[in-house]
Amino acid sequence: MYCAKQRTVKREIEIKGIGLHSGQPVKMKLIPATDHEGINFVRDGVVIPANIEYATAFDFSTTLSKDGKQVRTVEHLMAALYFTGIDNLYVEIDAEEVPILDGSAIEFIRKIREAGIHTLREEKIYAVITEEVVVKDGDKFISGAPSDTFTATYHARYNNRVIGDKKYTYSCMKEDFENVAMARTYCFLEEVEMLQKMGLAKGGSLENAVVFEGDTVLNPEGLRFEDEPVKHKVLDLIGDLYLLGFPLIGSVYSFKGGHRLNAAFVRELLSRKAFELKYSSQIDRVDFKRLVA
Ligand SMILES: [Zn+2]
Repeated sequence: MYCAKQRTVKREIEIKGIGLHSGQPVKMKLIPATDHEGINFVRDGVVIPANIEYATAFDFSTTLSKDGKQVRTVEHLMAALYFTGIDNLYVEIDAEEVPILDGSAIEFIRKIREAGIHTLREEKIYAVITEEVVVKDGDKFISGAPSDTFTATYHARYNNRVIGDKKYTYSCMKEDFENVAMARTYCFLEEVEMLQKMGLAKGGSLENAVVFEGDTVLNPEGLRFEDEPVKHKVLDLIGDLYLLGFPLIGSVYSFKGGHRLNAAFVRELLSRKAFELKYSSQIDRVDFKRLVA
């Protein structure tokens, strides 16, 4: 029987860029870790576990904080680690925000693949959803239910012709992974001034985000997919879900959710004890090879 083993990276990886919201230059190192250490950010010597317990802000990105230190916009990197099946890693960072790179998760994944994946000794641990859970905020909701595999669906409903009313499901197929990992973050030109007044999006540009003006895409290269925005929402959802600390097995459906509701969903899973932690060898009917990119 194939049982999935825990993973880390083969060697240290350096990634440089700027923060989308802070606009600050940042250097980040992905450093190999060993079994059961989990994913941890290290900022000025403070170790901040990539865990929902430390998630403190959700405005247009997800922030982790501990002992007065913070790391912002962790979600695209977290999605990349989920996709590459990395369970254990130290992420040393010299500024407060993860580099935005091209606005998607694909550059992180390319760097990780270039360095290579190191398979550790211990079996991977999955969080298997055992009962239905729903969180709501007005007409927005996220639901989770038991399933033999992992699926993440996002249903967008925007008053915008390009984004409109669209749904996308990630279901662990190779093409889904490429689709979701390559989808870039987006914003509306009308929002940019408001975001910048709030001290956000200072590093934003057409290099790292899709910008809409009404129904028009301002980026000269256009969209990577006609439903790129909804695929990006799936990417954010997957990254935030990984703050549970373990990859999920279950089906998750988000209707208009964002980082705040994603975090509320993960907290609800924990407080309701709606999942069981299982070693891969204890789980039947799951094709683990399909669960990682
Ligand atoms: Zn995002």
